Amino acid sequence: MATYDDWLAAYTDVYDAIPRDAGVACPHCGHKALRLVFTGDLERAIGYGHFWCDNCLRGIGISRAPIPEGAVVQDIHLSREAREPKIPNFTLVS
Ligand SMILES: [Zn+2]
Repeated sequence: MATYDDWLAAYTDVYDAIPRDAGVACPHCGHKALRLVFTGDLERAIGYGHFWCDNCLRGIGISRAPIPEGAVVQDIHLSREAREPKIPNFTLVS
């Protein structure tokens, strides 16, 4: 069972590799299907990081994360329905 710390370590690897694909495996299921999308203010480059696995739909959320150059960002000023890319409902690991 992957802990929050395992997820945080994977997050750090993926974050540091942006905009490249870090090729990191999901701490829970082992698939290389991790996604990191920020919701934030495009001007301020601070946002909420959604980090999840598209295969097992588990993940973590990071508050007030600095958004790096080249990251995938949803504009927080748009309505939830209008934001792209879509983020699936995933289970937060605590
Ligand atoms: Zn997974």
